[in-house]
Amino acid sequence: MPVLDVRARAVDALTRLVRDIPDFPEPGIVFKDITPLLADAAGFGAVVEAMAAAGRDESGAVVVDKVVGMEARGFILAAPVALALGVGFAPVRKAGKLPHDTHQADYSLEYGEAVLELHQDAVAPGDRVLLVDDVLATGGTAAATCDLVRRCGAEPVGFAVLMELGFLDGRAALGDVAVQALQRV
Ligand code: AMP
Repeated sequence: MPVLDVRARAVDALTRLVRDIPDFPEPGIVFKDITPLLADAAGFGAVVEAMAAAGRDESGAVVVDKVVGMEARGFILAAPVALALGVGFAPVRKAGKLPHDTHQADYSLEYGEAVLELHQDAVAPGDRVLLVDDVLATGGTAAATCDLVRRCGAEPVGFAVLMELGFLDGRAALGDVAVQALQRV
């Protein structure tokens, strides 16, 4: 199927199946709830296919060696994207969850700081890595993940995300890592 059709189906699914939850988890935040999208096989399949396009070149050839997904909703999207591309998946987790040797990166939350971790052997030196998450907000999570990938000697080459909150300009935190957002809200 042509790339444009894939993307149009994905955007249609996002528009119909992602719901806004005002004031969750705290007042002033409009939470993008993707659970109705995940519950719809056609919609879920459409967004996975469209996100996987970020790991291919114009001819359709796969140009990444690994897909990295961020806790927690990133895992749900990144694992099928990795399988669609025929490459492995690696999880970035909050501090203290990964059992083997890790790299750690601080990142900013709305209030204070937190730590993300990646296994040191999750990606190999020289690997080209695609990051996958559901929402790009301030970009702190994605920037910390890029840092972790680089600490392994690998290269973050792209970041595929369902939705970008345009008013927060998270792209600015990602430098020259190509951001592919299916929808900008
Ligand atoms: P940030 O680091 O600010 O770019 O935030 C991105 C992370 O927080 C992603 O892993 C998202 O799952 C989550 N997130 C931030 N804002 C929202 C939102 N409005 N709705 C749903 N998830 C969000």
